[in-house]
Amino acid sequence: MTPKPSPADRTSALWLGLRCRCPRCGEGPLLRGFLKIRDACPNCGLDYGFADPADGPAFFGMSLVGTLGMVAFMAFEFIVQPPIWAHLIVTFPLLAAACLAVLRPLKGWMVVEQWRRGAAPDEWQSVGKHGEGRKWR
Ligand SMILES: [Zn+2]
Repeated sequence: MTPKPSPADRTSALWLGLRCRCPRCGEGPLLRGFLKIRDACPNCGLDYGFADPADGPAFFGMSLVGTLGMVAFMAFEFIVQPPIWAHLIVTFPLLAAACLAVLRPLKGWMVVEQWRRGAAPDEWQSVGKHGEGRKWR
């Protein structure tokens, strides 16, 4: 007998992630502040210890915004032909804002995908700080 799927199981991982919601219940918030992952879901208690998207959201965000932003940048340049200072004032701040805007949804999406694929917490611990290994030799 298979367990009854939760409401979050029937919701697309992309939709849950983009809304930064808990992968199990679909209701609790995933993030605290801008990008900090909560310790657990306040709604269902799911431990978020498995969640470690590392630099993935930044990589995919820069790739996405870089590709689409370059198309927009070139269209702006070739159609409007603005002076270079217009790019400094308009284009570059827009690109930076777009990179920041996609970080949260991409992080949420990656965490939901990790949970659905059975990611587990780290099984090892650090043996010390950088440079302390010399004492062992
Ligand atoms: Zn939850």
